[in-house]
Amino acid sequence: MGTVDGMLRTIKIESRLTQGFTGRSALRPEVIGAMGRVPREEFVPEHLKPRAYANHPLSIGNGQTISQPFIVALMTDLLNPAPNDIVLEVGAGSGYQAAILSLLVKQVYALEIISSLAGAASLRLQKLGYDNVELRHGDGHRGWPEHAPFDGIIVAAAAPYVPPSLKKQLKPGGRIVIPIGYPDTPQELQVLEKDRNGKFTARDILSVSFVPLTGDE
Ligand code: SAH
Repeated sequence: MGTVDGMLRTIKIESRLTQGFTGRSALRPEVIGAMGRVPREEFVPEHLKPRAYANHPLSIGNGQTISQPFIVALMTDLLNPAPNDIVLEVGAGSGYQAAILSLLVKQVYALEIISSLAGAASLRLQKLGYDNVELRHGDGHRGWPEHAPFDGIIVAAAAPYVPPSLKKQLKPGGRIVIPIGYPDTPQELQVLEKDRNGKFTARDILSVSFVPLTGDE
Protein backbone atom coordinates (compact mmCIF):
# COMPACT_ATOMS: atom_id res chain seq x y z
CA MET A 1 0.00 0.00 0.00
CA GLY A 2 1.23 3.51 -0.80
CA THR A 3 1.96 5.96 1.98
CA VAL A 4 1.33 9.67 2.49
CA ASP A 5 5.08 10.29 2.31
CA GLY A 6 5.25 8.44 -0.99
CA MET A 7 2.42 10.61 -2.32
CA LEU A 8 4.21 13.79 -1.21
CA ARG A 9 7.41 12.64 -2.91
CA THR A 10 5.51 12.01 -6.15
CA ILE A 11 3.87 15.45 -5.94
CA LYS A 12 7.29 17.09 -5.54
CA ILE A 13 8.72 15.15 -8.50
CA GLU A 14 5.71 16.00 -10.66
CA SER A 15 6.01 19.68 -9.70
CA ARG A 16 9.56 19.69 -11.03
CA LEU A 17 8.60 17.80 -14.20
CA THR A 18 5.78 20.25 -15.03
CA GLN A 19 7.80 23.35 -14.16
CA GLY A 20 7.98 24.34 -17.84
CA PHE A 21 4.18 24.62 -17.96
CA THR A 22 3.31 25.84 -14.48
CA GLY A 23 6.20 28.23 -13.97
CA ARG A 24 6.76 26.76 -10.49
CA SER A 25 9.38 24.14 -9.66
CA ALA A 26 7.95 23.58 -6.18
CA LEU A 27 4.59 24.07 -4.53
CA ARG A 28 4.30 26.14 -1.36
CA PRO A 29 5.34 24.23 1.79
CA GLU A 30 1.93 25.01 3.38
CA VAL A 31 0.20 23.24 0.50
CA ILE A 32 2.47 20.19 0.79
CA GLY A 33 1.86 20.28 4.55
CA ALA A 34 -1.91 20.23 4.08
CA MET A 35 -1.63 17.35 1.58
CA GLY A 36 0.31 15.47 4.24
CA ARG A 37 -2.30 16.00 6.91
CA VAL A 38 -5.52 14.92 5.16
CA PRO A 39 -6.09 11.12 5.15
CA ARG A 40 -7.02 10.51 1.49
CA GLU A 41 -8.04 6.91 2.28
CA GLU A 42 -11.04 8.29 4.17
CA PHE A 43 -12.31 9.91 0.96
CA VAL A 44 -12.31 6.85 -1.35
CA PRO A 45 -14.51 3.73 -1.38
CA GLU A 46 -13.41 0.80 0.82
CA HIS A 47 -12.06 -1.33 -2.04
CA LEU A 48 -9.82 1.51 -3.32
CA LYS A 49 -8.24 2.34 0.03
CA PRO A 50 -5.05 0.37 -0.86
CA ARG A 51 -4.58 2.79 -3.79
CA ALA A 52 -5.48 5.96 -1.89
CA TYR A 53 -1.96 7.42 -1.99
CA ALA A 54 -1.15 6.62 -5.61
CA ASN A 55 -0.99 9.68 -7.86
CA HIS A 56 -4.17 8.79 -9.77
CA PRO A 57 -7.77 9.90 -9.83
CA LEU A 58 -10.04 7.24 -8.29
CA SER A 59 -13.71 6.44 -8.75
CA ILE A 60 -16.05 7.70 -6.01
CA GLY A 61 -19.29 6.38 -7.54
CA ASN A 62 -21.99 8.05 -9.67
CA GLY A 63 -19.48 8.20 -12.53
CA GLN A 64 -17.39 10.77 -10.65
CA THR A 65 -13.79 10.79 -9.45
CA ILE A 66 -11.61 12.17 -6.68
CA SER A 67 -8.91 14.13 -8.52
CA GLN A 68 -5.29 13.08 -8.80
CA PRO A 69 -3.30 14.26 -5.73
CA PHE A 70 -0.83 16.31 -7.78
CA ILE A 71 -3.67 18.19 -9.49
CA VAL A 72 -5.37 18.87 -6.13
CA ALA A 73 -2.07 20.21 -4.79
CA LEU A 74 -1.40 22.29 -7.91
CA MET A 75 -4.90 23.82 -7.97
CA THR A 76 -4.62 24.64 -4.27
CA ASP A 77 -1.25 26.29 -4.84
CA LEU A 78 -2.55 28.27 -7.82
CA LEU A 79 -5.43 29.62 -5.73
CA ASN A 80 -2.85 31.27 -3.47
CA PRO A 81 -4.87 30.69 -0.29
CA ALA A 82 -4.31 32.88 2.80
CA PRO A 83 -5.36 32.15 6.41
CA ASN A 84 -8.19 34.71 6.48
CA ASP A 85 -9.69 33.76 3.12
CA ILE A 86 -13.23 32.64 2.44
CA VAL A 87 -13.26 30.31 -0.55
CA LEU A 88 -15.78 28.47 -2.69
CA GLU A 89 -15.33 25.06 -4.25
CA VAL A 90 -17.61 23.95 -7.08
CA GLY A 91 -17.68 20.18 -7.62
CA ALA A 92 -16.97 18.93 -4.10
CA GLY A 93 -17.24 15.21 -4.97
CA SER A 94 -15.71 13.30 -2.05
CA GLY A 95 -14.89 16.47 -0.08
CA TYR A 96 -11.13 15.85 -0.33
CA GLN A 97 -10.21 19.13 -2.01
CA ALA A 98 -12.45 20.98 0.46
CA ALA A 99 -10.62 19.31 3.37
CA ILE A 100 -7.22 20.37 1.98
CA LEU A 101 -8.45 23.95 1.55
CA SER A 102 -9.93 24.02 5.05
CA LEU A 103 -6.44 23.70 6.54
CA LEU A 104 -5.24 26.76 4.65
CA VAL A 105 -8.12 29.26 4.85
CA LYS A 106 -10.70 30.53 7.33
CA GLN A 107 -13.85 29.10 5.76
CA VAL A 108 -14.67 26.82 2.82
CA TYR A 109 -18.06 26.69 1.11
CA ALA A 110 -18.45 23.74 -1.25
CA LEU A 111 -21.17 22.77 -3.73
CA GLU A 112 -21.85 19.34 -5.23
CA ILE A 113 -24.57 18.74 -7.81
CA ILE A 114 -25.08 15.01 -7.10
CA SER A 115 -27.17 14.84 -3.97
CA SER A 116 -25.92 11.46 -2.68
CA LEU A 117 -22.26 12.52 -3.06
CA ALA A 118 -22.98 15.84 -1.33
CA GLY A 119 -24.64 14.07 1.60
CA ALA A 120 -21.82 11.54 2.00
CA ALA A 121 -19.08 14.18 1.69
CA SER A 122 -20.72 16.52 4.17
CA LEU A 123 -21.08 13.72 6.74
CA ARG A 124 -17.49 12.57 6.14
CA LEU A 125 -16.06 16.07 6.70
CA GLN A 126 -18.11 16.45 9.86
CA LYS A 127 -16.93 13.08 11.23
CA LEU A 128 -13.29 13.91 10.46
CA GLY A 129 -13.64 17.24 12.27
CA TYR A 130 -13.28 19.70 9.36
CA ASP A 131 -15.46 22.27 11.11
CA ASN A 132 -14.77 25.19 8.81
CA VAL A 133 -16.27 23.55 5.72
CA GLU A 134 -19.91 23.87 4.74
CA LEU A 135 -20.77 21.51 1.91
CA ARG A 136 -24.21 21.32 0.37
CA HIS A 137 -26.10 19.98 -2.61
CA GLY A 138 -26.41 22.58 -5.36
CA ASP A 139 -25.52 23.67 -8.87
CA GLY A 140 -22.25 25.60 -8.84
CA HIS A 141 -23.26 27.64 -11.90
CA ARG A 142 -25.13 29.91 -9.51
CA GLY A 143 -22.32 30.07 -6.97
CA TRP A 144 -23.38 30.65 -3.37
CA PRO A 145 -24.61 34.28 -3.24
CA GLU A 146 -25.38 34.22 0.52
CA HIS A 147 -21.67 33.83 1.30
CA ALA A 148 -20.18 35.90 -1.54
CA PRO A 149 -17.90 37.60 -2.27
CA PHE A 150 -15.14 34.99 -2.14
CA ASP A 151 -11.37 35.48 -1.98
CA GLY A 152 -10.93 32.50 -4.27
CA ILE A 153 -12.95 29.92 -6.21
CA ILE A 154 -11.86 26.43 -7.28
CA VAL A 155 -13.92 24.62 -9.90
CA ALA A 156 -13.21 20.87 -10.03
CA ALA A 157 -15.18 20.12 -13.22
CA ALA A 158 -14.54 21.30 -16.77
CA ALA A 159 -16.61 24.02 -18.43
CA PRO A 160 -16.32 25.72 -21.82
CA TYR A 161 -16.26 29.09 -20.03
CA VAL A 162 -16.35 30.43 -16.48
CA PRO A 163 -19.95 30.65 -15.21
CA PRO A 164 -20.75 34.40 -14.98
CA SER A 165 -22.12 34.13 -11.40
CA LEU A 166 -18.75 32.87 -10.23
CA LYS A 167 -16.98 35.84 -11.82
CA LYS A 168 -19.45 38.15 -10.11
CA GLN A 169 -19.02 36.47 -6.72
CA LEU A 170 -15.22 36.83 -6.71
CA LYS A 171 -13.60 39.72 -4.80
CA PRO A 172 -11.35 42.09 -6.74
CA GLY A 173 -7.80 40.74 -6.36
CA GLY A 174 -9.19 37.20 -6.11
CA ARG A 175 -8.52 34.15 -8.26
CA ILE A 176 -10.55 31.44 -9.98
CA VAL A 177 -8.84 28.12 -10.79
CA ILE A 178 -10.81 26.12 -13.36
CA PRO A 179 -10.32 23.55 -16.15
CA ILE A 180 -11.61 25.17 -19.34
CA GLY A 181 -12.77 23.03 -22.25
CA TYR A 182 -15.51 20.86 -23.67
CA PRO A 183 -16.10 17.31 -22.42
CA ASP A 184 -14.00 14.63 -24.16
CA THR A 185 -11.54 17.17 -25.52
CA PRO A 186 -8.28 18.30 -23.93
CA GLN A 187 -8.93 20.95 -21.30
CA GLU A 188 -6.66 23.68 -20.06
CA LEU A 189 -6.29 24.40 -16.37
CA GLN A 190 -6.63 28.19 -16.12
CA VAL A 191 -6.05 30.78 -13.43
CA LEU A 192 -8.15 33.91 -13.76
CA GLU A 193 -7.42 37.02 -11.74
CA LYS A 194 -9.90 39.82 -11.14
CA ASP A 195 -8.38 43.28 -10.89
CA ARG A 196 -9.70 46.27 -8.94
CA ASN A 197 -11.84 47.35 -11.89
CA GLY A 198 -13.44 43.94 -12.20
CA LYS A 199 -11.42 43.06 -15.29
CA PHE A 200 -10.20 39.46 -15.68
CA THR A 201 -6.91 38.16 -17.00
CA ALA A 202 -6.53 34.45 -17.69
CA ARG A 203 -3.40 32.31 -17.72
CA ASP A 204 -3.17 28.77 -19.13
CA ILE A 205 -1.30 26.43 -16.81
CA LEU A 206 -1.49 22.80 -17.88
CA SER A 207 -3.47 20.40 -20.02
CA VAL A 208 -5.83 18.37 -17.77
CA SER A 209 -8.71 15.92 -17.90
CA PHE A 210 -11.77 16.56 -15.72
CA VAL A 211 -15.37 15.37 -15.65
CA PRO A 212 -17.75 17.96 -17.15
CA LEU A 213 -19.52 20.68 -15.18
CA THR A 214 -23.18 19.69 -15.55
CA GLY A 215 -26.35 21.56 -14.66
CA ASP A 216 -27.66 24.90 -15.94
CA GLU A 217 -25.72 27.19 -18.18
N1 SAH B 1 -13.01 17.97 -5.84
C1 SAH B 1 -13.52 16.62 -5.80
C2 SAH B 1 -13.44 15.93 -7.16
C3 SAH B 1 -14.60 16.27 -7.93
S1 SAH B 1 -14.97 15.56 -9.46
C4 SAH B 1 -12.82 15.80 -4.76
O1 SAH B 1 -11.89 16.31 -4.13
O2 SAH B 1 -13.22 14.66 -4.54
C5 SAH B 1 -16.08 16.81 -9.98
C6 SAH B 1 -17.38 16.89 -9.24
O3 SAH B 1 -18.09 17.99 -9.76
C7 SAH B 1 -18.29 15.68 -9.41
O4 SAH B 1 -18.59 15.12 -8.17
C8 SAH B 1 -19.54 16.27 -10.08
O5 SAH B 1 -20.75 15.66 -9.66
C9 SAH B 1 -19.47 17.72 -9.66
N2 SAH B 1 -20.21 18.68 -10.49
C10 SAH B 1 -20.38 18.66 -11.83
N3 SAH B 1 -21.12 19.72 -12.22
C11 SAH B 1 -21.41 20.44 -11.10
C12 SAH B 1 -22.15 21.64 -10.86
N4 SAH B 1 -22.74 22.33 -11.84
N5 SAH B 1 -22.24 22.08 -9.58
C13 SAH B 1 -21.65 21.41 -8.55
N6 SAH B 1 -20.96 20.26 -8.73
C14 SAH B 1 -20.83 19.78 -9.99
